[in-house]
Formats: sequence, C-alpha cells, structure tokens
Amino acid sequence: MYILMATPECAPVAKAGGLGDFVQGLSRELAAQGHQVEIILPKYDCLRYDRVEDMTLEHPDLWVPFFDRAVHCDVEVGLVDGLRCYFIDAHSEHGFFNRGAIYGDADDPDRFTFFSHAILAFLVASGRRPDIIHCNEWQTGLVPVLLFERYTALGLDKTRVCYSLHNLGHQGWTTPKVLEMNGLDVGRLMVPDRLQDPGNPQAVNLMKGGIVFSNFVTTVSPRYAWEIQHTDQGVGLQGVLRDQDRKFGGVLNGIDTTTWNPATDPFIATNYDLERLPGKAENKAALRERLGLVDAPKPIVAVVSRLDRQKGIDLIRHSIDYSVEQGAQFVLLGSAQEPAINAIFWDAKQSLADHPDAHLELGYDEELAHLIYAGADMIVIPSVYEPCGLTQMIAMRYGCVPIVRRVGGLADTVFDANYSDRPYEERNGYVFDELTFEGLESALGRAIGLWQQHPDHFRQLRLNGMRMDNSWARPAQDYLNIYQHIRVR
Ligand code: ADP
Repeated sequence: MYILMATPECAPVAKAGGLGDFVQGLSRELAAQGHQVEIILPKYDCLRYDRVEDMTLEHPDLWVPFFDRAVHCDVEVGLVDGLRCYFIDAHSEHGFFNRGAIYGDADDPDRFTFFSHAILAFLVASGRRPDIIHCNEWQTGLVPVLLFERYTALGLDKTRVCYSLHNLGHQGWTTPKVLEMNGLDVGRLMVPDRLQDPGNPQAVNLMKGGIVFSNFVTTVSPRYAWEIQHTDQGVGLQGVLRDQDRKFGGVLNGIDTTTWNPATDPFIATNYDLERLPGKAENKAALRERLGLVDAPKPIVAVVSRLDRQKGIDLIRHSIDYSVEQGAQFVLLGSAQEPAINAIFWDAKQSLADHPDAHLELGYDEELAHLIYAGADMIVIPSVYEPCGLTQMIAMRYGCVPIVRRVGGLADTVFDANYSDRPYEERNGYVFDELTFEGLESALGRAIGLWQQHPDHFRQLRLNGMRMDNSWARPAQDYLNIYQHIRVR
C-alpha cells in the first residue's frame, strides 16, 4: 500500500511531543513490513536539518490556492532515518513556516490549513496517488475536507483518509475566514453536521471537520477513545464522536524500540537489558554524577515531561518535596511554555540549588531524557488527562517503574502492583485515581516503600515492565487493517 503521513511533527526533525514519536514509529514499522510510506511536513526554519539526509528539490513551482490568488511553494525531499520525507517550503510574505517554533502563533489555523492545502496541491501536481493519507491532529483536519470537497474531482478520487486524534485539548477553533482562504463554501460547511463548532456556532472547528470527512478516525488508546465519547475530556466533541462511532476506535500507540532500547542506546552510560540488569546501577551512578546528586542508598524518582497543565503541574511540584521527605532522590527534566508554570519550577529550582538529593533541569534535552530513563528507579506521571502517554512505556522498557494517574493510555498500560486484577507477572507499576496530593502519595509512597523494604519485589516489578511488548508491531497491524478496510480496491 502507498501511505502518506500528513503531520505537523515527525521525530527527530520536528518534534514537540508524542505526535512526533507516533509518526516516526508507525511509519518505520509500516515501511519495515514492505509498504511504501512517505511523510509530508512544513519546511520549518527550526527543522533539525542535521538529521535530514540528501535534501533535494523535488517539485519546484508549486502554486497553492490562497484566497483569490496562489502562493508559490517548493517541495523538497530528504531521508529522515531512512524514511522519505517531503517538506513544503512556502514563499509567502507571511513567513508561514519561519517562526522559530512549530506551534504557538495566533495565525496557526492559517499556517496549518495552508499546509493542508499544499499537501493536496502537491499530490495533484506531481501525479502522486496515495491509497491512504494518514492525517493527524487539527493541523491536518482540513485535508479530508478539501479532498472530498475539491480534490476528488481533480484526480484524487481513489485516495482515502485515516485521521488520528492525539489530544482533544487542541481542536483548531478558528473563524470561517480559513474556509474562504482555501476556496471552500462557508455556507455549505458552517452547519452542525460539518465544521461548525458544537459550543460556538460562529467558530469553525478544524478537528471536527477532520472527524466528519475522514473515512476512519482513531485515537491513541482505547481508554481515551471511551473518555472522549463519554466524558468532558471530549471538550465538546463527545456527541460528534458518538455519532461517528461506526468509524471510530482507539489504537494504543507503540514506542520506537530502536530509538528506545537500553541494550543499544548511545546516549546512556552503560548498555543493559533483562540479563544485564546491573548495567542499570551504572547509569544511576552516571545520572547522579551528571546532575550533582550524592551517592546514597536511595531510589531516584524522576519526571520527564512537558510542563503543561495537562500533565498535573501541582502534583509534579508536590512529588519533589514528597520524594525527598520519604528518603528518595528526585530529578526533573521539563520544559514549560506558559510563563506562570515556568516561574513555579524556576522557584523550585532555586530553592533546591546544591541540594544533595534533588535536581531540576528546565528545558528540552533529548539526550538527558535517555539517561534519566536509564538511571532512575521510578517515574511519576500524574496527568489530568493523557491520551496515550509514551513516557510510561519508554520508562518501563528501561526498567524504571511508573507511578501514574488512572486516565487514558496510562490506565491501558500500567497495572498496579497491589490492586490490579492482572496476573502478578503483568503488574508493572503503581496507579492512583484522585487528582490530589493524597492520591499521588498513596501510589508514590507504596513505590518508595517497596524499593526500601522489599528490593527483590521491586526488582520483579522492574522486570515485568521490561518484558512488556509495547513495540509498534501490533498497533501497526491494527492500522493496516483499518487502511485495508477503507481503501479502494
Ligand atoms: P506528550 O506528547 O503529551 O508530550 P508523551 O508521553 O506522549 O507526552 O510523549 C512525551 C515525549 O517527549 C517522550 O518521548 C519524552 O521522553 C519526551 N519529552 C518530554 N519532555 C521532554 C524534555 N523536557 N526533554 C526531552 N524529552 C522530553
């Protein structure tokens, strides 16, 4: 099958979070199974150009409709970890992709609907006819709308769309101007069963457009699929998703087991696996040395996270003091966009300066993240909501025991050491329900206590996590089944 991944992110060249990992991991697995997989991204100025090989001009002079004129683009192509990746370079006076960051501008709906339109214009102009376009998030929600409203008539009549929702907290709410900008009929589309936002009749909802116009819609875990249909986690789209139930399902994400493999990871101090577990202790020593923690018979509790309200900021902050009080060490690697959240963690960092048992590293550091997974004993993920979450799966592969709130994909992947109804060998972490300090402590306290009092049992929990198969093999098969189901034969 010929599959085109339409996405605002792809690791490692343009990654803001788990979406980048999703595109890379799923694409690699599909390609390994012999499918023709290509990725299409904006050519951001902040792209990691050092990770793109053989960048060349693929299609000069692409003209993308924009209001009643057209914007000149070039399409370049390069290899990203062996995958063929197209980059849309827009030469508009708006500098759509030259903002120094992937997201965060007031005109993001304009930027990304322009990108969506450019994808289809490129396919038509270059004669490419993918069987499937796999779209992601609101940023590419207009692709199926444009496809079925305009581009089937221009030769893309055999292309079908699978659309994945990674986070309902961002739906691409905007004004009907983006429809005009893309030559779409506002009167036809601004109606309740098309792109009109359910909560605000004046607003266009790009994610809703993607859901309504795609042939199949997925989200990134079965539990989150249920939550967004039946609770306020759907952020207004619950009814739409229930109406589309026949073409909607949750597929649990995998992790890229080449990138995330303690046996071969080049960013950690010593490679290890199930048979060479003492290697983990050497990483713990290296992590302490790197972050200035003392050598002591204590577990290391870690957080690796975007510092966003979604991630449970108060509980992350509380886990620092609580861990140290309970006789553990604590490390945090986190990046905050919101100034108020940034301030909370800068204050905490200052108050812990030179602390022998705690260290906070504020920023985004891919390589340090690897060493933390390898060196830490536990990882705390107290999310308010979590569509899938890769952190807990990566941590488990590195023998780092997750302590998580029972939401979304966390509930689908972490099974409580004491209270799960799963067989003992499948229990791999600690789970709590309440979004309160007491809730967090009820799980984190048990984890630290087990490490201190029953090291053999703690070791077993580590091994149970390391044995789990969270690779892309199974989810990729689920996606292939979906593609087969919707494709035109
Ligand atoms: P989300 O997509 O909501 O950020 P996920 O758990 O799905 O959360 O994915 C997070 C990914 O980003 C993981 O690969 C994690 O290691 C990485 N990550 C998060 N914060 C940082 C950071 N500050 N530095 C390096 N990597 C980070």
